[in-house]
Amino acid sequence: MLAQLLDRPGAPLRLADVPDPVPGDGQVLVRVQACGVCRTDLHIADGELTAPRLPLVLGHQIVGERADGGGRVGIPWLAWTCGVCRYCRAGRENLCDRARFTGLDVDGGYAQWTVADERFCFELPGDLAPLDAAPLLCAGLIGYRALRMCGDAQRLGLYGFGAAAHLICQVAVWEGRRVCAFTRAGDEAAQALARELGAEWAGASEDAPPEPLDAALIFAPAGALVPAALRALAPGGTVVCAGIHMSDIPSFPYELLWGERTVRSVANLTREDGREFLALAPQVPVRTHVTEYALADAGRALEDLRAGRFAGAAVVVP
Ligand SMILES: [Zn+2]
Ligand SMILES: [Zn+2]
Repeated sequence: MLAQLLDRPGAPLRLADVPDPVPGDGQVLVRVQACGVCRTDLHIADGELTAPRLPLVLGHQIVGERADGGGRVGIPWLAWTCGVCRYCRAGRENLCDRARFTGLDVDGGYAQWTVADERFCFELPGDLAPLDAAPLLCAGLIGYRALRMCGDAQRLGLYGFGAAAHLICQVAVWEGRRVCAFTRAGDEAAQALARELGAEWAGASEDAPPEPLDAALIFAPAGALVPAALRALAPGGTVVCAGIHMSDIPSFPYELLWGERTVRSVANLTREDGREFLALAPQVPVRTHVTEYALADAGRALEDLRAGRFAGAAVVVP
């Protein structure tokens, strides 16, 4: 099969002809129809997250057909958990001590075929095209988990209006929340998309929103956004950092945190998050705004993500 391989951090992806993967016990063989591009892929490609083995196939938002005729599945970031550690036993498998992740610990979906542990695959809502379903599997799921961490916050700020924010904005508006979208200064395309999807206000990250926020979700990997978001927050509000990697957070005066404001992160997903979100998405209904790339162009998709050259989500189609 053809697959895009990461040979070492910092190297461009290499399209190669490799042996088809062979499913082990409890695994399914899946023909990849679409694989979403996530900022985490970029962090792994750049070496900000260390891949335990190389070469590696990136990609963890996979929609495909089971080779055994079992129909369509979604394969997410969470590839395997131990099931016995204290986190797994407490319904917090996202924090499992020994968790393995798709496109990091095991090969992912920038390829024509992949294998996955059947217990961690999702059923997908029936009528969604693979291209539209793929971004739900990380951008959507992690965004949803981050949104749940905001409780009943009415006035919500989304920092970094990319794949995750454009999906979660729709859920938040549908839930009756009011959304402010923060982008890189001058990113008119992202701001226009935010308004189109129901945001009341869209502006630059350093701008003050029209009213203080009850919660802020940070999807961009820039630590400087943490004090910026705290500054925009009402007392009692929460800042949720939803990315897996972030540049250092600059020091800030304690008064920004004072007033029972909270800063927290969100890590990975549980299968329960996935089932909840995939059941909710068709009710909203969540619409994906997608830019399509051929498998041969997966490296270009990552560079376009880095440069902010598309609005919404990117998807690789083998
Ligand atoms: Zn991801
Ligand atoms: Zn565990």
